[in-house]
Amino acid sequence: MDTVASRPRTYEVRTYGCQMNVHDSERLSGSLRAAGYVAAASSGTGSEHEQADVVVINTCAVRENADKRLYGNLGRLASIKRDHPGMQIAVGGCLAQKDKDVILEKAPWVDVVFGTHNMGSLPALLERARHNGEAQLEILESLEVFPSTLPTKRESTSSGWVSISVGCNNTCTFCIVPSLRGKEKDRRPGDVLAEIQALVDDGAIEVTLLGQNVNSYGVEFGDRQAFGKLLRATGQIAGLERVRFTSPHPAAFTDDVIAAMAETPNVMPQLHMPLQSGSDRVLKAMRRSYRSERFLGILDRVRAAIPHAAISTDIIVGFPGETEADFQDTLRVVEQARFATAFTFQYSIRPGTPAATMDEQLPKQVVQERYERLIALQERITAEENAAQVGRTVEVLVATGEGKKDDSTHRLSGRAEDSRLVHFGVPAGSDVPRPGDVVSVEITRSAPHFLIADSDAPLRIRRTRAGDAWDTAQAESCGVPSPTEPGDGPRPVSLGLPTLRVGR
Ligand code: SF4
Repeated sequence: MDTVASRPRTYEVRTYGCQMNVHDSERLSGSLRAAGYVAAASSGTGSEHEQADVVVINTCAVRENADKRLYGNLGRLASIKRDHPGMQIAVGGCLAQKDKDVILEKAPWVDVVFGTHNMGSLPALLERARHNGEAQLEILESLEVFPSTLPTKRESTSSGWVSISVGCNNTCTFCIVPSLRGKEKDRRPGDVLAEIQALVDDGAIEVTLLGQNVNSYGVEFGDRQAFGKLLRATGQIAGLERVRFTSPHPAAFTDDVIAAMAETPNVMPQLHMPLQSGSDRVLKAMRRSYRSERFLGILDRVRAAIPHAAISTDIIVGFPGETEADFQDTLRVVEQARFATAFTFQYSIRPGTPAATMDEQLPKQVVQERYERLIALQERITAEENAAQVGRTVEVLVATGEGKKDDSTHRLSGRAEDSRLVHFGVPAGSDVPRPGDVVSVEITRSAPHFLIADSDAPLRIRRTRAGDAWDTAQAESCGVPSPTEPGDGPRPVSLGLPTLRVGR
């Protein structure tokens, strides 16, 4: 009998990779909780946290050196496991889907390997591994249960993610997603809306719709305008204040979506749309079927319909065969596009992708040098765009964990409607908003990566259901009765700033 049988087993989920993986990890946590596991206590520092009975690593195959990082971590976990009888290690996600039994060959102390299509089986696989005393490997090639139908343990009470589709029908030559996540599968609009409603009933006021390519949503059930209709339908959900989505694909981006964004008040003035390259020749080699002119045309139409839209993007520098002239095209498009921010990546070989075996892989120093030029350009534009925000009044959804220096600067942080990060001061004597509340602040200063709103006047706070839900969650997690009931009026807080932490 192991030493932990008499208490609930604890778990920890470690996530690598994209937002899709972070969302999948919420599903994994939810499945484990539904099966009776409890989250391991964590102080937030690596050395002091309680060792979980089950460590789940949700892997990503998109990033460079993902396998080195995984096996490095598994090596460290091997010695921890030796000292913790009954501990189990599970590896899931994209790298597991790709490497399958290689993981168990290289790290035989792993108990469970599961793929991207069978996250819901994790508790059963852990149980089977314990019962049978041998590792379980289960990788399904296609989806059996849509991930969003699995239980979720959300990290935020105010915001939630909702998958509308998984997989991708495109074949971008640098991307491993199609071979790991499979063909696009769309969720029925009614199921998506029901999940959003459930999140809202739970206190959320913001949702982000997730899909590898949200613009092709509907392809599976034969409605080309399904995404725009879905956006409009979210506008009918009472209490849902903010709707965002990621990621759209420029090739499939249609004007009905722009109209839906502009005409649905709770769809936020923000768009993240990957450019990847400004060179049409490189876009062709990437097998991305739009060209730079089309991309810029979409931005023009979005800005015409939504004047304050903040537009962000992803760009890959140094794709095989990229010439200096191609790179200059990227700089030109970036200059014209005036992105609020850009996630820039240096191309590196991803085994299993068509681009990995292309001729003309560029030397690292060429890629690095172009990358630095692109960063310098985008940082200038970001700084200019942020400076243009000074004097504007914005609504900030107060968050936990957004401002790393909040404790020392005595500011709180959150996202404006356009998703810009805002740190705002809380003047002496002002009420203090809770995470999930919304404050109305005037931007007084800008920095390259954030905005500052300082004022001597008391904060203008709108207490929300999400703030109430945060209060309730706090009370439940520490056993203190909640002092707040939904519908209570504003309540002065006189003991200085609360310490805000990311809920786990
Ligand atoms: S659109 Fe391209 S980059 Fe995006 S997931 Fe599909 S194949 Fe990958």
